[in-house]
Amino acid sequence: FKDGLKKTTPTFYKIFGRVGGIFSGKKLDAASLEELEEALYGADFGVETTMEIIEEIQAAYKKDKDLRGQDAARIGASVLARVLEGAEPTEDWLGSARPEVICLIGVNGSGKTTTTAKLGWKFKEDGKDVVLAACDTFRAAANEQIKTWAERLDLRLVSSHHNADAAAVAFDAYQAAKDKDVLIVDTAGRLHTKSNLMEELKKIRRVLQKHDESAPHHSWLVVDGSLGSNSIEQARKFHEAFGLTGLIITKLDGTSRGGAIAGIYRELGIPIYFVGLGEQKEDLQPFTVKNYCNAIFG
Ligand code: GDP
Repeated sequence: FKDGLKKTTPTFYKIFGRVGGIFSGKKLDAASLEELEEALYGADFGVETTMEIIEEIQAAYKKDKDLRGQDAARIGASVLARVLEGAEPTEDWLGSARPEVICLIGVNGSGKTTTTAKLGWKFKEDGKDVVLAACDTFRAAANEQIKTWAERLDLRLVSSHHNADAAAVAFDAYQAAKDKDVLIVDTAGRLHTKSNLMEELKKIRRVLQKHDESAPHHSWLVVDGSLGSNSIEQARKFHEAFGLTGLIITKLDGTSRGGAIAGIYRELGIPIYFVGLGEQKEDLQPFTVKNYCNAIFG
């Protein structure tokens, strides 16, 4: 994904126009600082990150009353980059197991099935041999949805019927993916029977580990970004139960709450691999701290 990482994403930029726009061409003053503070809260950055940014700009302003808006934006971006240090995955995050197993987990509606398809397509575009596993056997529509995606994108899919044993599907999928590059496992996300869900996820993991004891190599939580900081608590619970290794934040197109990314990262301290910016196959972009900070303060 090297090229993808360098690419900027126009949709991503659009989301945060309000924060960066405050300073355009203006000299910094108390009113614009207040406006910035409000915009940061509005974008769901939360108290800690907002205060860090405001305090650092204020300190610079105290020293230099001629501080320009663009200087303040630069300071804001650098504070944010510091908050997000470590949030970007390393370039060689994809190991060399055959297959590398990626489990996508999260509550219903967070975008797991869509992300499974988008991710599969991204790997395929990158020349990788990829297999998808339809382990959300609980939500009737999920099976059909992933089948439709797999047909449309010409991706190899291992699936079963509605209510089938999800771990059995994972077992079969691993066998189908043996000696291939990547296996992406879509899982169920029913919330009302959460303990059963956690058991099911753990069973999937045990079955995968029968094949390869270090599988799944990646356990990523798919989080609906439009829920803003409301999703932090849920993310923490998944992390405690399952030991996540990464995050994918979806639905950042059209939300004004993208600041919650900083809060989620502060809470979990695990890398954000991708962001979802729409419903089409190409609407999944690698997360980069630089793009994110530019999107907000650029
Ligand atoms: P799952 O229940 O976690 O498998 O969620 P789905 O993949 O079925 O997604 C739920 C809804 O969110 C679907 O209508 C998707 O098209 C939509 N969706 C998923 N990702 C994104 C995204 O990044 N942006 C937008 N706008 N919609 C998304």
